[in-house]
Amino acid sequence: MRILITGGAGFLGANLCERLAKKQDDHIICLDNLQTGNKENISELMNLPNFEFIEHDIVNPLNLAVDQIYNAACPASPTAYQADPVHTMKTSVIGILNMLELAKKNNATLLQFSTSEVYGDAQVHPQSEEYWGNVNPNGIRSCYDEGKRAAETLCFDYHRMYGTRIKVVRIFNTYGPKMNSEDGRVISNFVNQALRGENITVYGDGKQTRSFCYVDDLIEGIVRMMNSAPEILGPVNLGNPEEFTIMEIGERVKGQIGSGSEIIFQPLPKDDPKQRRPDISRAWELLGWKPQVSVRTGLEKVIEYYRGLMA
Ligand code: UDP
Repeated sequence: MRILITGGAGFLGANLCERLAKKQDDHIICLDNLQTGNKENISELMNLPNFEFIEHDIVNPLNLAVDQIYNAACPASPTAYQADPVHTMKTSVIGILNMLELAKKNNATLLQFSTSEVYGDAQVHPQSEEYWGNVNPNGIRSCYDEGKRAAETLCFDYHRMYGTRIKVVRIFNTYGPKMNSEDGRVISNFVNQALRGENITVYGDGKQTRSFCYVDDLIEGIVRMMNSAPEILGPVNLGNPEEFTIMEIGERVKGQIGSGSEIIFQPLPKDDPKQRRPDISRAWELLGWKPQVSVRTGLEKVIEYYRGLMA
């Protein structure tokens, strides 16, 4: 099979490339505009005969022969997607149009990396796929949230209009190796701050919650979804339902590293969701998937990773 991974040099994309390139009879095409992706993330794959890298922005059309498309391209850290919000929206909306056209032409299966952000500042807890969400249409997070919502719409409309083979997963907070140390998301921030002995920056009062999934678990769910029966379209939530306050995460990171860092408070960014936890019963029913890695073990692995980068 010829497998295209857009955003393949980014955090999730590169972990997926690594996983898929192991199967030597598949040809992996990793595509990235290197806006937030990093070639270091795929450096070990570059010499493999079944792996190729193309520098390209999915906002521009693309013509390739492919059997499967994983559409992971889009900055996902709030700081990164808010840096150029117009381009973020274009990546989600024009990008998915280009990828759906490619899937349609090749009769390929497209799996869209959607997000728990489609639920916005959720008023239903935990969030199941039936919940339609509570999203600000014109706030600072909207370029990402509304872009990803529009992308889901286009996937389902291509399927209804043209029979295009689509699958949609909604990814909840994920952490692990290959997330840039400067990414800005909470676990990479806290671990790097604690390792450097800097202050750990909790935004707001730290009572907001998130549920954190280790990247290997997430990638397993994504691969299962792509290879599921054609009638399974989703959306399917993928995430770890273990829920923590951000303050608890700060304390755990500090404790596991044995760091002397102080926890300090900084202003809460606008529209920051208060509570988030996935209902993953659909993923279990359809894919037999649930996370295996505890937050303690996952944190140990990611601490080792960032330690290694500092050495
Ligand atoms: N956060 C924090 N300190 C940081 C980075 C993030 O307290 O240095 C908080 C952020 O305000 C949010 C939560 O951690 O409530 C998760 O933020 P992240 O950017 O990782 O992901 P998202 O908000 O998209 O879930």
